[in-house]
Amino acid sequence: MAKRCYICGKGPMTGNNVSHSHKATKRRWVPNLQKVKIMTESGPKRVWVCTQCIKEGKIQKVVNFPKPKVEEVETAQEA
Ligand SMILES: [Zn+2]
Repeated sequence: MAKRCYICGKGPMTGNNVSHSHKATKRRWVPNLQKVKIMTESGPKRVWVCTQCIKEGKIQKVVNFPKPKVEEVETAQEA
């Protein structure tokens, strides 16, 4: 699968390794992606997100997602 951040779309960058003799060889930089379970409008989802987006709080992790209160659950069952 393509390694891209689900939030910001950050992907691998390409460039050159440059040795002391100035011989250039291709290399690539990959973003620090972590697979996290996030809460979306359509429910929980497991996606790749870069660590910058996780740090900045751009995602709602399922683990930290507030559970519905007991009263709300009871009223939902009555209706
Ligand atoms: Zn990102």
